[in-house]
Amino acid sequence: STVLEIKNLHVSIEDKEILKGVNLTVKSGEFHAIMGPNGTGKSTLASAIMGHPNYEVTEGTIKLDGEDVLEMEVDERARVGLFLAMQYPSEISGVTTSDFLRSAINAKREEGDEIPLMNFIKKLDWDLEYLDIDKNMATRYLNEGFSGGEKKRNEILQLLQLKPDIAILDEIDSGLDIDALKVVSKGINKMRSDNFGCLIITHYQRLLNYITPDFVHVMMQGRVVKSDGPELAKRLEAEGYEWIKEELGIED
Ligand code: ADP
Ligand code: MG
Ligand code: MG
Repeated sequence: STVLEIKNLHVSIEDKEILKGVNLTVKSGEFHAIMGPNGTGKSTLASAIMGHPNYEVTEGTIKLDGEDVLEMEVDERARVGLFLAMQYPSEISGVTTSDFLRSAINAKREEGDEIPLMNFIKKLDWDLEYLDIDKNMATRYLNEGFSGGEKKRNEILQLLQLKPDIAILDEIDSGLDIDALKVVSKGINKMRSDNFGCLIITHYQRLLNYITPDFVHVMMQGRVVKSDGPELAKRLEAEGYEWIKEELGIED
């Protein structure tokens, strides 16, 4: 099994402190949801875990099975089993979805043990069908001209293809209509196993109608201020975030 352990994480962007001591542990087999108002640092947390260069870690640790993630290059983080679906996936001109996936898969395998082309195509076709994605997407440049919904489906396609140990999904539900939301949820639920852990970042509760998290965390002002079971998400949907501020004495 795999453990992602974040301790007292402080992160700054352009000398402004955004994360102010985040503590969070995600183990394989567990689904965690992080909710919270806009601008509280949820995407900053995701970017810091994956090593985005604009995000400076000033204090604290991120460890994967005891290994220092902060010491790893970005591609190494993927190789050891971390995966990030970004809130705004970037377009990569000149690289098709299919080529991108194949090299990402091979980057995780030993040299000389590349995935046989036929196996790759077969599994890709299967996943495209499972996620109700047009086959043409595989030969289009990654995310270029994709609709919002297509980008999110493509992130889930990557998830199914790369089979990470721990995935961080940042607003994978934003901008999706109900059919796309169901497909995306189906893909995430398919990953559920003792060998897979997930951190689902979402602004809204509705995704959690389809994916039941084991733990729900609330992030405010750069910290995880409350953690509980799935019922916490329901209460947030019904009552918003004000009651938490009052309960914890947080001021705007
Ligand atoms: P969330 O995902 O919870 O909505 P973010 O992590 O995106 O929040 O943003 C947290 C704070 O950091 C916000 O105040 C935002 O304006 C600021 N921020 C995020 N990205 C950048 C950036 N690239 N440059 C400057 N400020 C940023
Ligand atoms: Mg492991
Ligand atoms: Mg965000």
